[in-house]
Amino acid sequence: MSRLSYKIFGALLLTVLLSVGLTSFAANQLTASQFRQYIIRGNTEFITSVESALSTYYAQYQGWDNVNGVLIQLLGSNGGRLVLSDTSGLIVADTQNKWIGYQADEYSLSNGTLISISGTDAGYLYWIGSQGSGSGSGYGKGMQSGQNNSGNAAAGIISESQQQLLDEMNRSIWLSGGLAGLAALGLGLLLASQIIRPLKALSRSARRIAGGELSQRVKVDSRDELGELAESFNHMAQSLEANEQSRQRLLADIAHELRTPLTVIEGTVDGILDGVFEADAQHLTTIKEESATLTRLIKDLRDISLAESGKLKLEMTQVDIADIIRRQAKQASILAKDKSIALLSDIPSNLSTVTGDATRLNQITANLLSNALRHTPAGGQISLSLKNMLYRDKPGIMVSVTDNGEGIPPADLPHIFDRFYRVNTSRARSEGGSGLGLSIVKEMAEAHGGYVWAESSLGKGSTFNYWLPASHT
Ligand code: ADP
Repeated sequence: MSRLSYKIFGALLLTVLLSVGLTSFAANQLTASQFRQYIIRGNTEFITSVESALSTYYAQYQGWDNVNGVLIQLLGSNGGRLVLSDTSGLIVADTQNKWIGYQADEYSLSNGTLISISGTDAGYLYWIGSQGSGSGSGYGKGMQSGQNNSGNAAAGIISESQQQLLDEMNRSIWLSGGLAGLAALGLGLLLASQIIRPLKALSRSARRIAGGELSQRVKVDSRDELGELAESFNHMAQSLEANEQSRQRLLADIAHELRTPLTVIEGTVDGILDGVFEADAQHLTTIKEESATLTRLIKDLRDISLAESGKLKLEMTQVDIADIIRRQAKQASILAKDKSIALLSDIPSNLSTVTGDATRLNQITANLLSNALRHTPAGGQISLSLKNMLYRDKPGIMVSVTDNGEGIPPADLPHIFDRFYRVNTSRARSEGGSGLGLSIVKEMAEAHGGYVWAESSLGKGSTFNYWLPASHT
């Protein structure tokens, strides 16, 4: 048994023992006292009837001569023993015929019931418990044991059979108390095992997860707090597994991304060393471009890891987002002109102010613009627009970069913000893309409390939007 089982079992045992013990004890006491009250009432009636019969006898015979037979008749089937003395204490009748002629002392006299006829004392009546042979176990032994039971012969005399009945009742109370206790204990243990079983399963699974078995799950078979715990545990295990998978994927992706430019560099250098290639501007440019790709990749990876771990330091100031867009448009216009792409911008004047890191906001816009330029054919058009917009009931500014280029297939659209996700891998790579541009845009926008999303129609073009919350004024 686990330690928790011991604790629950101990607590249950204590509760059951205490409650059953106290209830049985109280029931016992109550039964005994009620039973005694009942007996006393009966006894009082009996003694009164004996008294009245003896008074009639005394009045009729002017004395106690031959009263013994009458006394035996009066006792009848009642338990105990009746003894009668005259006023001086001389015993004149005894239903057991043992004490006739004995003298009762004053103490015994005081425990008897005085019999008087029309104000004249005639004698004392004693009723002694049937077990009143001095064993000390009976009630109302009166005369014999010297106990004073309410100073009356009728008080609390319990016959052997009545005592047996009382003992029987007491035994039944204890027995039913014990049985109820056992049943409560059994039920309690059943309940405890229902609590402990899922906890043990959770603990087993937690140990396996700690040992690296991230696919471990526990069965949820109740809707109570334990069920909720099991569900939370499964969620935790699921996200641990997902994190581990994405970590492994990322490592593989990074290794792959590093290998491609390094292979090109290595191959070119080998060719030059072996005399296959000239060490001319063309081959040196290839090496330079691939090195630049590696540098960009490393920088992008660092940005992403800083943003994901929340360690990206943002130099927050009041930024003129319109100014950022204007400058980015100006920079991109040279490339756009080269590619015969029209670059338009729509910047209204009443824009909300934004608090942000100007360098990072420039980076977001530059990434989106460079993507648009890469995916728009000659003769196409890119437009930049800015407007005040409520996003999920919060005021802010939305920046949109729209192109009428190749567009993104619907199946790829939900993934384009994932790390290293490319629609056309080899083409994107040959164009120098790290596959991290949009992931960086997403991380940066979110680090500013903003959002980013894309809309696209294959063959018609795409729109990339990012929204930033307005500064609190
Ligand atoms: P990359 O460095 O490859 O451009 P990004 O993360 O910036 O990586 O973009 C991911 C992918 O999204 C790109 O490979 C490209 O296929 C697609 N994409 C991004 N912007 C556009 C766009 N304006 N039009 C069409 N496809 C785009």
